[in-house]
Amino acid sequence: MPDIRFYNTLTHRVEPFEPIEPGRVFMYNCGPTVYDFAHIGNFKTFLFADVLRRFLELAGHDVQQVLNLTDVGHMTEDHLADGGGEEKMDVARQRILDAKKAGDAHFDAIDDPTDPYQIADFYAQAFIEDARRLGMKVVDDDPSHLPRATAHIEHMKAMVQKLIASDHAYVADDGAVYFRVESFPEYGRLSGNTLDQLRGGAGGRVDDQHQAHKRHPADFLLWKPDPTHLMKWDSPWGAGYPGWHIECSAMARAVLGRDVIDIHTGGEDNIFPHHECEIAQSRGATGQPAFARFWMHSRHLLVEGEKMSKSKGNFYTVRDVLEGRVTGRPVDPAVLRYEMTKAKYRSSLNFTKQGLEDSAANVRRLREFAAALDERLAGAPYETAGPDHPAAARFIDALADDLNMAGALGVVFEFLNGKHPDPAVSRGVLAAFDRVLGVLPAGAAAEDASIEERCKALDAARAAKDYAAADAIRDELIAAGYDVKTTPAGTVASKRLA
Ligand SMILES: [Zn+2]
Repeated sequence: MPDIRFYNTLTHRVEPFEPIEPGRVFMYNCGPTVYDFAHIGNFKTFLFADVLRRFLELAGHDVQQVLNLTDVGHMTEDHLADGGGEEKMDVARQRILDAKKAGDAHFDAIDDPTDPYQIADFYAQAFIEDARRLGMKVVDDDPSHLPRATAHIEHMKAMVQKLIASDHAYVADDGAVYFRVESFPEYGRLSGNTLDQLRGGAGGRVDDQHQAHKRHPADFLLWKPDPTHLMKWDSPWGAGYPGWHIECSAMARAVLGRDVIDIHTGGEDNIFPHHECEIAQSRGATGQPAFARFWMHSRHLLVEGEKMSKSKGNFYTVRDVLEGRVTGRPVDPAVLRYEMTKAKYRSSLNFTKQGLEDSAANVRRLREFAAALDERLAGAPYETAGPDHPAAARFIDALADDLNMAGALGVVFEFLNGKHPDPAVSRGVLAAFDRVLGVLPAGAAAEDASIEERCKALDAARAAKDYAAADAIRDELIAAGYDVKTTPAGTVASKRLA
């Protein structure tokens, strides 16, 4: 395995990365809020997590990845809110009602726009479709790896109870439960804030609505009793709903089954307050010296050099791009994937029409190169290239350097420009690159062996704990257009429809 180094927001430096359990990585990614279509800025962050997972797998790790869907409609802290604390589900409902009135067929699946669960379901499904088209592997994992907040309320309540019992949280005179930041001396370490700065209101948003009831201005909401809320659950603190931050702490622990995980990711805007609060809650509840050992954040996305905003008219969803509303013609999802992942994740990405065109040319070149090799192979299988092949090794080394995708792509195109006396070897190297890039159609290898044999080989690899080999087979099958499921009787692959 290569020596991996990642920038850790928690320590503000690049550090060697080793998972707690050798060969197994447990990773949590803050996912989308599901009461609107996800925009390309959101997807820059999600695709960064996908590239990270794919790289770790290529480097030989088994990766347990969880990406949550926030479906409780109370996101007053979401800085992307245009409405400054509006009930977001209300905004979504109005948008859908207006669209339906105008005869827009996009929302036909929602027969009751007053039902927040239907709205959340609709957008969750749309997110999964978008993510699948962009090649995000997590959507083909066990469905429990895309947890919905509304399905984990019991875990959240249990965590809140634990925090109250250990004096990290209190019930205030307004009936709400708050985390007591002064009970956690390291609060502020991730974001570089101090409690004194936060008392003065510096370093980020401190919500005003509840100020009078809190012991410290930075104390944050864990449970809000509100019997009038659209989505509400019974609790020892009255019928209401959980705070946003506690959702992720509870889901990470419940689904990954661990108090301490290897990696937690999000966009840079998640650092404060969201991730700062997650650390305080999780460590407060578990008593462990860490929640996630590595915190990795992707920088924001600009559109033609400007911040994306609805008022500027440069606010694009993935669908806007794919369906041609940005460039005037449909865009191949692989091209959008390439464009959004080609830069270093810690740099801001300037999304431009020119960039999309350049990415389209690069994807075309990769596909033509693969097709030419496939033609020379004439149906013969290619050789799976391991990290022992010099080009694959250099590709992995570039990514091992804090996921340097720009450097890795340099290796890819240098390889394309080289000599290729043996198509079976070259095609194998290309397949290894594509395990991270995710832009090529199926190679010859998957079609060559019978699908059932591949499933058996996958099970055998898994039984032998060779997770890298199992994942490679699974990748091949998925790339060849199969849905791969784990059943009690072993792995089953069925041809995907449409
Ligand atoms: Zn989160």
